[in-house]
Amino acid sequence: MEALARAFPHEESGDGIEAAAHFAPREFKVYTHRQLDRIRQVQALPEAQQFDIKVVSQVLPFRVNEYVLEELIDWNNIPDDPMFRLLFPQREMLKPEDFDAVAELVRSGASASEMAPVIKRVRDGLNPHPAGQMDLNLPMLDGEPLPGMQHKYRETVLFFPSQGQVCHSYCTFCFRWAQFVGDKELRFASSEADQLHGYLAAHPEVSDLLVTGGDPMVMKARHLRGYLEGLMKPELAHVTNIRIGSKSLTFWPYRFVTDPDADDVLALLRELVEAGKHVAFMAHFNHWREMETPVCREAIRRIRATGAQIRTQAPLLHHINDDAGVWARMWRTQVQLGMVPYYMFVERDTGAQHYFEVPLARAWKIYREAMQQVSGLARTARGPSMSADPGKVEIQGVTEINGEKVFVLRFIQGRNPDWVQKPFFAKYDENATWLPHLKPAFGAEKFFYEEDFADLKAEKLALI
Ligand SMILES: *Cc1c(COP(=O)(O)O)cnc(C)c1O
Repeated sequence: MEALARAFPHEESGDGIEAAAHFAPREFKVYTHRQLDRIRQVQALPEAQQFDIKVVSQVLPFRVNEYVLEELIDWNNIPDDPMFRLLFPQREMLKPEDFDAVAELVRSGASASEMAPVIKRVRDGLNPHPAGQMDLNLPMLDGEPLPGMQHKYRETVLFFPSQGQVCHSYCTFCFRWAQFVGDKELRFASSEADQLHGYLAAHPEVSDLLVTGGDPMVMKARHLRGYLEGLMKPELAHVTNIRIGSKSLTFWPYRFVTDPDADDVLALLRELVEAGKHVAFMAHFNHWREMETPVCREAIRRIRATGAQIRTQAPLLHHINDDAGVWARMWRTQVQLGMVPYYMFVERDTGAQHYFEVPLARAWKIYREAMQQVSGLARTARGPSMSADPGKVEIQGVTEINGEKVFVLRFIQGRNPDWVQKPFFAKYDENATWLPHLKPAFGAEKFFYEEDFADLKAEKLALI
């Protein structure tokens, strides 16, 4: 008991194992933009701030639950609290002219049908589908496209189960925001376990399945089982690694502790592990604050007890975590709790990017300074990495070569595996925030992969 208490020095209310029995079930209660007026904490905010939230949540997804309202947000530190900015839309997330257009409609009490065209125009201006997700990543089976899946990198297939296309709450910066605002056209989803298994069986080069969303952990255990159980069949033995992308440890840790099918979902993970699969729970944490509650720590402990690994990833975000000390503490906490830091991402070119973006030069500085503060066990996080059209491009550093200041870059993943791990160089640009802003260094006209990428793209689009 004492040893365990020492192992969890930040935790005030127990040691995790003994504590398991003490977690009272919590009712999952959500609020969307239609129920803003019913959130007690919001009602206590100044009128002007309430109005801003109302306006921006017409455009960007908004969904919170009672756990995040009561346990994560520090209501004495509004609006600067990072958890508040993670969950609540802020005025500056829309461009001023867009904000004004929507504000005008809200003020005049416009009907939903009057608002719709304006909201659509604003959303369309926010690049709802970055990095060729709608066409370039689309897999085909027997000449038919599979819209609930994406296959961008040889080894890994992404699957979007239709019951998992929401989250327990929404992040204001989410790059998949367009899926959550009710536009069915913008949603990838598949309810076809057979299609998934058929596609995987036809692709022996695929070692990893990444189940994503939304959040697959909003699904009932029996639905999740419907998709995952079949992976234990001999014809899918080549799919050795099953990843589940989820923010549930932050937004609803009760999923693994007291929810009615908490034990069923854990039993499924354990079965997959016992069948010889590597089960990787890809947890999304933006800030160490998300891991401070006893129920989150208990959920982490229970998932790890199944034999599944937990790896962690998150984008670097202005206003939320653009601070080396925050990342260092986050990574240290994760390692202490038995998780493996995996990726630091650069915020993508979609949604409220202008609000969250951090210049690449500064992103690298934050990454480096955070790395300098942690032991080797936490230095497993790669980044800062841009999930761009051609692949995942990592900023390895800034240096000077023959008097020219440059970014050193490499592909962590590429549409063509041949691009991976070759260092390449871009002219230093203090303000660049995304790959297309960069120009090749040393007078080159193009980056080494550009022609090859153009060919790949033309080939792929010809097939659709
Ligand atoms: C990041 C990513 C993957 C997984 O890449 P790893 O380097 O194996 O983590 C797969 N597909 C897409 C579309 C991705 O963005």
